[in-house]
Amino acid sequence: MITRFAPSPTGPLHLGHAYSALVAYDMAVAAGGRFLLRIEDIDQSRARAAWEQQIYDDLQWLGLTWEEPVMQQSDRLQDYHAALNVLWGQGLLYPCTCSRSDIKEAMGAPQEGVDQHGPDGLIYPRTCCEALRVGVVPPDVTLRLDLNALPDLPLMYTEADRGRHWASVAELRQTTGDFVVARKDMATSYHLAVVVDDAAQGVTDVVRGADIQDATPIHVLLQTLLNLPTPTYHHHRLIRDDNGKRLAKRDDARALSKYRAEGATPNDIRRLVGLPAA
Ligand code: GLU
Repeated sequence: MITRFAPSPTGPLHLGHAYSALVAYDMAVAAGGRFLLRIEDIDQSRARAAWEQQIYDDLQWLGLTWEEPVMQQSDRLQDYHAALNVLWGQGLLYPCTCSRSDIKEAMGAPQEGVDQHGPDGLIYPRTCCEALRVGVVPPDVTLRLDLNALPDLPLMYTEADRGRHWASVAELRQTTGDFVVARKDMATSYHLAVVVDDAAQGVTDVVRGADIQDATPIHVLLQTLLNLPTPTYHHHRLIRDDNGKRLAKRDDARALSKYRAEGATPNDIRRLVGLPAA
C-alpha cells in the first residue's frame, strides 16, 4: 500500500489537515506500506516557501516520517505538458478565452431549481468549443476537456468500505461540464496534476477529505484517457469548528502551530480529531 498527503503551501495546516495526514500515515504503517508527501504548489501566486517549511515542521512534530525527496508539483511541469499532449493529440482539448463574467453572461439568468455549479464552479456553456484544435498544444491559454467529443464511458472507482462508485461521462456533462485541464497561468490544473502525480508516485490509496469526492469522477476520467491506474479512494469526514463549519486555511485559530505553541501534544491532536493515541 502506498498512501500520500498532498498539502498546498498556501497557509497553515489546521486540524483537518492533521486528520488527513494521520489517517493516511496510520493506514500505510498498519499495512506495512509506504507514506509519501507531495507539495501541491502549482499555484505559484499563492504558494510560499515559509508555509512549506511549516508543513514539514508540523508533520514532523505530529510524529510522521516520509520518504525523501518530497515531490514538488512546481518541478513537474514537463510531465503535465506530456499529459496535455496526449489529450490534445486525441482532439479532446480546446482553448478557452472566456473570463468568469463572459461565462456568467453566456449562461443567462439562473433558472430556479437548476444548479449551475459543479465541483469546479460554474458549469461552462461551451462558448469556445469550436476553437481550432490543430498543431501543438497552444501555450498560455486555458484548455478545457470536450466531454461531447467522448463516448458515454462508464467511470468506476472503489470507495474504501463503501464499495464501488459509478459515474459516467454523460453524468459529468450535466454535473461538471467541460472542466479546465490547464489554467492559463499555470499550464496545468489541480485535476490534471493530481492524477499524473498519484500515478507517478504509485499511490494505491488516496486519502482525502469528503469535500473532494465530487471531483473524483473527473480524476477517473483523466486516468482512463491517460491510461493510468485508478487508486482506491478513502474520502474521510471533515473536521468542523464549533459551529459545524468546515475548517478553512484562514482558520488560524485551528492551526496546528497554535495548538503546539499552547503546549498541546501530538496525542492531544489525535484525540481532538477522534483518532486513537499513537
Ligand atoms: N492539495 C489539495 C489540498 O490541499 C489536496 C488534494 C488531494 O488530496 O487530492 O486541499
